[in-house]
Parts: sequence; C-alpha cells; structure tokens
Amino acid sequence: MQDLRDRFETLNTGNPSAPQSSSSGVSGHRPEQANARRPASYKTYSGTEHPPHLVPSMSGNFFTTSSPPSCLPAAQKKGYYVGRGCPSGEDLLHDAFWFRHIDVPGFSICSRCFEFYVRHSVFELDFAGKLEPGQTDAARCIFGVSRMADQLWPEAVMTRDLQSVKTYMEARAKTPNGRGMGGVSGTALVVLKWYQAKHDAIPGLVACEACYNAFIVGSSFEGRFSLHDHQPTQEQTWACDIAVPNITRAFAEYSEANDWSKFVIAATSRLSKPSCAGFNTVSSRSREWYGIICGDVSVVICETCFLDSMALTAFDKQYKPKLLPKENKETQLICDLAIPALKVAYGAALGYEKHDIFWNACKVQLKTPMCRGAGMTNVQWYTLRGGCDNFDVCPTCYSGFICAFGMQIHFQPQKKCPPGTTKMCDFCSEAPNFAKTIIRYHVALETPDTEQFITHTRRMASISLCTGVKQQVAQFWRIGLKGDPMSVCPACYEDVLRDRPLSHYFNHEVLPGKHLCELYSANMRRRWRAVQEASAVQNIRDANNNFLPDETALANFIAYREHRTQVFIETVPVMEQLLAAAQNRLFQQQRLNQNSSFYSNLDRMSSAASGIYYGPLPAYTTTYGNSSVGYGFATPWGVEGAAYGQQAAAVASQGGGDFARVAYLEARWKEVE
Ligand SMILES: [Zn+2]
Ligand SMILES: [Zn+2]
Ligand SMILES: [Zn+2]
Ligand SMILES: [Zn+2]
Ligand SMILES: [Zn+2]
Repeated sequence: MQDLRDRFETLNTGNPSAPQSSSSGVSGHRPEQANARRPASYKTYSGTEHPPHLVPSMSGNFFTTSSPPSCLPAAQKKGYYVGRGCPSGEDLLHDAFWFRHIDVPGFSICSRCFEFYVRHSVFELDFAGKLEPGQTDAARCIFGVSRMADQLWPEAVMTRDLQSVKTYMEARAKTPNGRGMGGVSGTALVVLKWYQAKHDAIPGLVACEACYNAFIVGSSFEGRFSLHDHQPTQEQTWACDIAVPNITRAFAEYSEANDWSKFVIAATSRLSKPSCAGFNTVSSRSREWYGIICGDVSVVICETCFLDSMALTAFDKQYKPKLLPKENKETQLICDLAIPALKVAYGAALGYEKHDIFWNACKVQLKTPMCRGAGMTNVQWYTLRGGCDNFDVCPTCYSGFICAFGMQIHFQPQKKCPPGTTKMCDFCSEAPNFAKTIIRYHVALETPDTEQFITHTRRMASISLCTGVKQQVAQFWRIGLKGDPMSVCPACYEDVLRDRPLSHYFNHEVLPGKHLCELYSANMRRRWRAVQEASAVQNIRDANNNFLPDETALANFIAYREHRTQVFIETVPVMEQLLAAAQNRLFQQQRLNQNSSFYSNLDRMSSAASGIYYGPLPAYTTTYGNSSVGYGFATPWGVEGAAYGQQAAAVASQGGGDFARVAYLEARWKEVE
C-alpha cells in the first residue's frame, strides 16, 4: 500500500495518466516547425495520426483493432487494445500488453511502439506478446527512445538486418532503469554508471547509463559527454538530469540542430531553478513567474513548471513572463500547475494538442474553492452516472480529471445539496480512498475496462473505512479457522480478499456487538497473501472451480493468528483501560501542564494505536532507555514520558508507572499487529 501511495504521490505531482505520465518524452516540436519536421510518432500522443489498422476508442484515450497481432495467446486476442502513449519514463501501473523479442525477453516494448514500429515490418514474427501485470520494472517501455525509434530500428528495417537492434536490446535489458527526478541512493546508486558533460561544461549535470545510451549515444552531442569523474557513495542520492522534462526536450531539439551552446545555456538555466513550491504559497519575489491573461481568466505558473511543462512544446509561445501587479509589491502566490486537476488537464491538453482543455479547467478553478481535505460548500457536485451516494467530484476535478479525457458519459451532476453542506471531493489527494480511486480511474481511462472503476467506486462509497485496532460494528466477512472465526471488515475485504483465491471461504455475516478486523495491518495482509499465493501455486480446485487452500501455508497462518490473538487479549484492552484512567487523572489534575510531554505523548500513543499501519512489517526489536528510568521502551518518547512520570511523581503519583506499562504493552502488541 505504501508503495502504491508513493507511486501516486509521484503521479499526483507529475501527471496521473499515461498519456501524460510519460510526458517526459512528449513532443518537443513547435507549431511553426510542424510542417517542416514532424515529431517522431512515438513522441506525440495526438490521436489523429495512427496506422490504419488501429481505431481510436470512443474517449480517444486508447486504440482497438479488428486484427490483433498473431503473436498473442489466442485467449487474449479478444481483449487486445493499444496504448495511446508510450510509457517510457516510468513503470505502467496497470496490466497491459507487452511485446518482447524472442531472443531478448528482458527488453520491454509497449503496445503502442509495437504497433507503430514493429507490426507489419519484416521482423514482426520475431516478437511475442502477452498481457502482463503493471507496477513492475518490466512494465516500462524501453523501445520508445530516440536511439532505438529514430536510429536503430529504421536502419534495421532498411537493411533487413536486426543485429544492431538486438545488440542494443541485450545491453539495455541489463542496465537498471533510471529513477528519473526521484533519484537513486544506496546500493542501487553505486552499481550504476554515470556520465557528465566533458570539462564540466554544464556544472552539476549527470546522466544515468540508461539515458546515456538511449539519448546521447548516436546523437550529435555524443562526443561532448564522458564517464563521470566521481563515483557516488551509498550515502548520496543522484538524480539523472536527462530525465528532467525540459532538459529531455532541449536535448532533442538542440542535438538535432547540433547547437551545443544553446543546450548548455538551456540545461544550466534549468538546473539553477528552485523546485515548484507545490501547494504552498510563496513570495512572488522568490522566483520568476509565467502566465496568460485572457478576459477575466489568468493563470500563473512558476518558472520551473513553465520550463518543464510549456517551454519547447506546442504551447510555449502562449505563455509570457508575468508582470506582477506593482513590481515592487510582494504578493503570495501558488503555482497553478501545482493544483492536481489543472496539472492533469494540462497533460491532456498537451497530449491532444488542444490548449482549450487546460483553459477550460482554469476557468472552472477560478470560480471554485481549492480542492482540499477540508472540503467545500455550495458548489455543483458530480457523481457516477445513475447516481452514487457518497461519491462526490468537485467542479475543478470534474473538469480536469473527467472532461479533459472525454469521460463525461460515465458521470452526471448531482442534485443540489442543502445549503451549507460541506463535502470532500473523492479526487482530492487527501480523500481516504484517493489512491484506490485514482488507480482504477486510470485503468478506466486507458483500457477498455471502465466497469472495474464503476463497480469498485459504488462498492467503496457504501463502506466505512477500517478502524484498525479499534473494534467496530460492521457487517463482517467471517471465515471459520479451526472453529474460531476470523473477522474481516468490508473495506479490508475489498482490499485483500475480493476476487482472489480463497475468498469463497468467507461469509458475509451480521454479528451483534463490536469486533476486531483481522486483516488491516501490513503484517497480517502479507501473511494472508502468502496463503493465497500458495493456493494459487498448488492450483487444486473444487467442483466450483475455486482454489483449495495449501494446507501447510494455512496451518502456518492459523498458528500465527492464534499467537497474535493471545497477545491482543493481553495487551490492547489493558492499554485502553490504562489510557482512559490516565486521561481521567489528567483531566482532574489542574496543576498538570496541558502542554507537557506526558499529555502530548498520551495523545500520540492513542493515535498510533488507532491508526492503520500500511507500511512494511513493523520491526519493534529496538528498545530505548536510560539508566534512571530503566530500559525496554518501544520508542524514545517512551523514555521521555517515563522521565516526566518520575519528575511529576508528586502530582500524578499513579500515572508514571502506568505510562511505562502502556509503552511495554504497546511494544508487545506492535510486534504482532
Ligand atoms: Zn513504447
Ligand atoms: Zn536517466
Ligand atoms: Zn510550479
Ligand atoms: Zn476535487
Ligand atoms: Zn479492516
């Protein structure tokens, strides 16, 4: 989950759908050059040009075809579709069709590159394709880069000799993928080769091995680069600068014209810019700004976002350096491209080469409060077509996420809410199900499968969030494990069980009283997934074609769960009692400072105990302590709290000891949670 959230964090600040998420390779052509020199087809996402056997989908976000490639497994031909953009900059999030040369299976080619280059060429039959999962390093296209698509492949087709293509593929398949602007650190960093401009002509610029081979080798600038003078250490983080969108485009533009000095100026300038401040307001004087004013609509973009998203694209002439009102007066500004819905709409506008898509979303934003966790009041809300209570999309997100991609047919305006009703938008990055909503919407956008998004959204809209360690009243899913039923709340059922092996063992039950959900923690989810996977590997089915459990894996799970339940009984209820008693005492003790660490630590502890832990397996094996308060506290604040307890002994004579006990119980529970 954490991993997924991280990916979405990047998407959110980058571009949330593949037509734009791969925009680092987006067309660098300018309108006035369009006729003279068309951009390579892998660089543009415009749906207007495509091979005749592909048909744009209704939304225009992907292609279908009546003649799927012969190299696909027969059963997968029916669901075949072709991506509209090439996912070359990052790993694709969802299942997709991938193609590989039969001799170099480590070299991934996306469906778009396959259809635009390989299909119907003399080499088509040397490749095999199939549906593969997303979110792996293999789900990144390494064909759609200039070295392959502009040089090696056309040469191979012309000479009918694939050798140089295969040599490149073999070498590239062995090179680790770049991590883009996120950077690399630790052991992953030190095994990579890095390049720089010779004589440090562009101070600070580094290129990773993959980008060096994909863009620099074979270009007119090849001789300008050499291996980096320094080898990074594990403690450092290095980020490849060729992956910075503005530098990618400047490289393509100026290497083609063989104008090294222009590239040096462009790259040096871009590297000197501060990163976008995102949702934080910053002083207008802290950086340069760009914008457009048209009628009563104006947008303001920070210089970094201007360079990365607008400069050297079809739209760059539309934006002018922004003269802020009264030059000497300082104002506070937010970059409009930091607003997710606008950033997404801009990506769509660039992809379809229709600036109005972005402009329309800006006009809506102008009249709408910022979409944030606090929600908004008195706006026109949207929801799924046919209605869906508790699924709300604000006007800006409707415009930027939905209209920009032609997805309106799946949505409708809501009836007016009673005046004063405040709601949070489900496309807001602070919404509880944001990551799940957006990943499924992404699939709905880019593949023929819209249904999974609609079904999942309807289901989730009626389900409360899991309360984690707090027992809750809900319609639980239950499974009898050796007579002792295990309970899973509806939200966790959707996350971990539905449509996966062994889910048919769970029954939907309404039970009196409160119950504890047992599949909310990363630890338990990981252990249950191991049971699911073992059953899938064993692959023995019952009469209804359901998987039977792998007995060893299931027995291991049951044994662990019994241990965990025992620890739960011995710790959590006692902790809750102690905390309640301590809070009560605090309430009565007027002399206790409300800001004391004791008070805030209690607060923190109770919030930690009720929070849902999605991270990696907790490893509470380190304990903290000092000689005056003793050892064995789970966290450093346990020590502080105990120290406070000692000092305040006269005031809260019964409290200090309880605090230490809570810390100990908490540590025991966290080890198995
Ligand atoms: Zn591709
Ligand atoms: Zn790179
Ligand atoms: Zn910005
Ligand atoms: Zn919104
Ligand atoms: Zn749950």
